[in-house]
Amino acid sequence: MAEYLISGETSYVPVDGLTAPQLLSNGQGLTYNDFLLLPGSIDFTASEVDLTSALTKGITLKTPLVSSPMDTVTEADMAIGMALMGGIGFIHNNCTPEYQAAQVRKVKMYPHFNYRSVVLRASKYEQGFIQNPITLGPNATVREVFNVKSTHGFSGIPITEDGSANGKLLGLVTSRDVDFLKPKDYSTPISEVMTPLSDLITAYTSVTLAEANDIVSKSKKGKLPIVNENNELVSLIARTDLRKNRDFPLASKDKNKQLLCGAAISTKEDDKIRLELLVEAGVDVIVLDSSQGNSVFQVNMVKYIKQRYPGLQTVGGNVVTAAQAKTLIDAGVDALRVGMGSGSICITQEGAFDSKVNGSFLMAVGRAQATAVFKVSEYARRFGVPVIADGGMQNVGHLIKALSLGASTVMMGSLLAATTESPGEYFYSDGVRLKKYRGMGSAEVLKQQTCMDRYYSEKGSPIIAQGVSGTVQDKGSVHTFLPYLTAGIQHGCQDVGSKSLSRLRAMMYSGELKFERRSASAQVEGGVHGLYSYEKAFM
Ligand code: NAD
Ligand code: IMP
Repeated sequence: MAEYLISGETSYVPVDGLTAPQLLSNGQGLTYNDFLLLPGSIDFTASEVDLTSALTKGITLKTPLVSSPMDTVTEADMAIGMALMGGIGFIHNNCTPEYQAAQVRKVKMYPHFNYRSVVLRASKYEQGFIQNPITLGPNATVREVFNVKSTHGFSGIPITEDGSANGKLLGLVTSRDVDFLKPKDYSTPISEVMTPLSDLITAYTSVTLAEANDIVSKSKKGKLPIVNENNELVSLIARTDLRKNRDFPLASKDKNKQLLCGAAISTKEDDKIRLELLVEAGVDVIVLDSSQGNSVFQVNMVKYIKQRYPGLQTVGGNVVTAAQAKTLIDAGVDALRVGMGSGSICITQEGAFDSKVNGSFLMAVGRAQATAVFKVSEYARRFGVPVIADGGMQNVGHLIKALSLGASTVMMGSLLAATTESPGEYFYSDGVRLKKYRGMGSAEVLKQQTCMDRYYSEKGSPIIAQGVSGTVQDKGSVHTFLPYLTAGIQHGCQDVGSKSLSRLRAMMYSGELKFERRSASAQVEGGVHGLYSYEKAFM
């Protein structure tokens, strides 16, 4: 052994790899492909890794995944899918304010919870107890049951003596009681078709959620009314809610147990009307959607939102430098969206010529995404402002790298495009199942927008498109795709020896987390090579 030691050396403390500042502070912008994380030491399983992370100052997610506000990525179906899996979606704004607000409302109403409001009454009353359920009186007609069904999407309605949510329980009407009635019977009083109290299974107020769950699953009933000693209705348990809580334990919810939903607005004056509709629809977080957020327009909008809707979480951006971040942090943003020119559909940095849009242009502004994420996160953390790494995520490794450089969450466009939940229809090209995916600054979108004159400095001047339109291959549902991403992040964290995302960031800032630059040949070595053919498939 001794012959391997350098003369005079008695012990050896290994020093290997670069810290994040060493990696990213030599003036050359790096992308995710330009470096690797070095492994650490493991004393836990990958599934134990906690992916809880802040989206904004006021919103924490159990999964750090965010869908981009793009018209080929996020409408209600995507936002619901993202929130159920513990992330969040931002509904795009390339539509009328009314349409966008309706999409937000659809997310907030999911899954047609049959209550006006759910309130946690005491610690034993966990989520699942519906207070103030929609009720009807015994003289209401069958027609009113159908009305409730079409408005709220369910027909399991408690019937109380005075029709109120706390009245004496007389029975329950469900779709089974009314499904086969003919229109001529629609004026029949509910008391004649309902299941009376004597045939119902109910529980008393002292029941816990676990006990109620048990009763519901053993009785195979869809609804379990909770009553007090006077048989007055106190709350209701719905089998569908219990099932959803069981199936989606990570779901991102607000204090009313409704799914979280974000939405994008621009910084024009009339976006204030859009904003009002979104707030009315229950939006939880707004992103100010711009490629260059360090503008007087955005500062004014942030200040307006904070003054008019103080509780509304507001994401500013996009930014890629600490100086840009400073402006928006000073204005009061709750999070920063980082990325300029890194998106898969983006031509902001490189420019393009397209005779179809009469444009020959070169923007030449932006920053390599790994450097941008590190520099902005490093500044913003001093103010407790989380960073969303936006764009350029091509694979799960990129997600881990973004999070290891200080981002709290990652926003995806192309990775989520062409999932079942993304807007648009599938079509086939050369036997491959595809969906359309396009930049929000693409010529196609700009031409379509009624506010296209934003892009004309004066009438007749060329459209300055900053994105392209393309296609992406079918990825199936986010319900199968997102678990693949989260498991990948957990495995990455395990390999570097971090049991949580907050620990990952702490390791990076303390210098414990080590990185290495990748040469071009290292990148080739890191990919599959030397095989005649191979298959790459998700398990
Ligand atoms: P934008 O709304 O910020 O800017 C469009 C134009 O309108 C700009 O010239 C801007 O200065 C101007 N403007 C904005 N508010 C104004 C106001 N109140 N008064 C007067 N002028 C105002 O949008 P954008 O930056 O062109 O981006 C359009 C879309 O494309 C967004 O969805 C954005 O996310 C996307 N995009 C993203 C990137 C990226 O790298 N992240 C790059 C390009 C485009
Ligand atoms: P992707 O995940 O690499 O596909 O990038 C998605 C991100 O690209 C979005 O979240 C936006 O920040 C950005 N983006 C959206 N539309 C455009 C565009 O037209 N040009 C440039 N960037 C865009």
